Amino acid sequence: MNAPTLPGLAPAEPAAHDTKPTKPPRPGSRAARMMLPRSADVLKDLATDYGVCLRPISMRRTDLDTGQTEVIDLPCGATREDKCLPCARRNRRLRQAQIREGWHRADEPLPGPEPAADDQRSMIVMRAHLEFERDKAARDASWGEVADLDEAIRELEEAITTEGLRGRVAPPHHGPDDEEPETGPRRKRSTRRRQDAVELPRRKVEPRTVGKVYTAPDGSTYQPSMWLTLTLGSYGPVREDGTPLNPGRYDYRRAAWDAVHFPRLLDRFWQNLRRCEGWNVQYAGCVEPQRRLAPHAHFAIRGTISRDVLRTVAAATYHQVWWPSVDVQRYSVDRPPVWNEQAKSWVDPDTRVPLATWDEALDAIDEEPDTEPVHVVRFGNQVDARGVMPGTEDAERTLRYITKYITKHAADCHPSGTGRQRAHLERLWQQLQITPCTDRCANWLLYGVQPKQATGKLRPGRCKGKVHQRSTLGIGGRRILISRDWSGKTLSDHKADAREWVRALLGVTTDLAGTDADPDAAGPAPLRHAWEMAHPTDRDVPPLAHRLLRSISERARWRSQLLAAKDRAAAGDSPNLSAIGTQTTTNGGARHSG
Ligand SMILES: [Zn+2]
Ligand SMILES: [Zn+2]
Repeated sequence: MNAPTLPGLAPAEPAAHDTKPTKPPRPGSRAARMMLPRSADVLKDLATDYGVCLRPISMRRTDLDTGQTEVIDLPCGATREDKCLPCARRNRRLRQAQIREGWHRADEPLPGPEPAADDQRSMIVMRAHLEFERDKAARDASWGEVADLDEAIRELEEAITTEGLRGRVAPPHHGPDDEEPETGPRRKRSTRRRQDAVELPRRKVEPRTVGKVYTAPDGSTYQPSMWLTLTLGSYGPVREDGTPLNPGRYDYRRAAWDAVHFPRLLDRFWQNLRRCEGWNVQYAGCVEPQRRLAPHAHFAIRGTISRDVLRTVAAATYHQVWWPSVDVQRYSVDRPPVWNEQAKSWVDPDTRVPLATWDEALDAIDEEPDTEPVHVVRFGNQVDARGVMPGTEDAERTLRYITKYITKHAADCHPSGTGRQRAHLERLWQQLQITPCTDRCANWLLYGVQPKQATGKLRPGRCKGKVHQRSTLGIGGRRILISRDWSGKTLSDHKADAREWVRALLGVTTDLAGTDADPDAAGPAPLRHAWEMAHPTDRDVPPLAHRLLRSISERARWRSQLLAAKDRAAAGDSPNLSAIGTQTTTNGGARHSG
């Protein structure tokens, strides 16, 4: 950091490199004082360095045996750094641990389910009989009997769950008064393959999730993994800084629709890839914006897949959106349709003619013989993939790359420094504000269609859907995508692992790190404590600065103990040692007796 040049004292033509003031400010002057760091900032910086949460949540814990109370700070657990940098970083380290663990697994993460016992099977048979009877009663229109059978089915399903069977046998039935009857005519959409898409091989998908093991001539085996980036197509040529060469010809509408439907496209890709490869390919990755603000996705893939296959599957993958046409925007945000309370319908502000309902609009599409989907999302030509060997620096670097932006809002990943970049973001956001996010989005009114289950509360251009928010750039869903059989663990499992590891290393069973202060890690410990929220104004809650100072002290002592323990530990102790680092447990769990 360069020392600031005092206003008015700057040389008339500052040299490019030499910005240091020629003379330090007079000691004791205001300028000299202003150059001293603020202690409050240093406290914050230190807390961040030590991984101490900056916005801890105070919980009052009462020992039920002794009646003694303690106020314990729990970390806020934010995942975005604008909320709390230390917590966001901790969360990122956990995600990295999760990705690392699943990436190079050599065994299947979850053991298959045990075979069902005889009485479990007989319960399913009983359920089958009830289903048969219900169907008969429904066809005879004996609704009283249907209701009785529904009740019996509900009871039996509860019993099935108690018997230790996972999941539901079948979806629930709907009564005749329900809003969306299951027997309603299913909309038939064109399932014809697009002529412009490549035909893919379709294999039966084996349950295997682990990649191939290769054997070298010398007998050593290795099991490489992969890294993949999927990108969307072009909306027009862009400059280095991501802004369009010709904003007037940049296809913002396509960019907005692609961003909104990108998650579905990714789902399709994994589905197609598994079918094409014939095994249950696992992935963990992150969706983030490119510099041009279009989403792209980085993935770690377990096992290897040929680059040709990845390219072919990407080229053959598309997602069609069968929604009403948005070619003509018939109304504006300033002059939208109006709600008619009597008719419970949105009507034209001038003619008072009701707008087409959602079903009418879809019927119109169905009746049209050569109908085309309103939007088709597909990937661009750029598909980057390469092999990664487990345990290498390359694997770690790739991991950091994949998780680089997960602590930031989409719009903050590439700071828009210039006016041109800000204008680009602004134009994309304008478009996102009038793009329909779902079939219930208020924006449908702009295109003369009442969305599904329309109410008088809809405000076009003001839909609360996440994709319309400036900070998301249209990336509304989850940004971290991890397949079901990746590491066989949830984030909480990984958190518990890290804690276990630290405890084992320190040789402690209790709580220097305040391990029992975390409610989701309580486990089977006897319930001797009652917890309640403590408010910052409560008498037994010290000022935030005091709490941060204590947490930092605890952390500092704990860290030096941990470092000493690390030194003592044998070299080949744990492969996760450096990865988990010193800060994965709780916030230090600072205690304040009261
Ligand atoms: Zn926090
Ligand atoms: Zn919306």
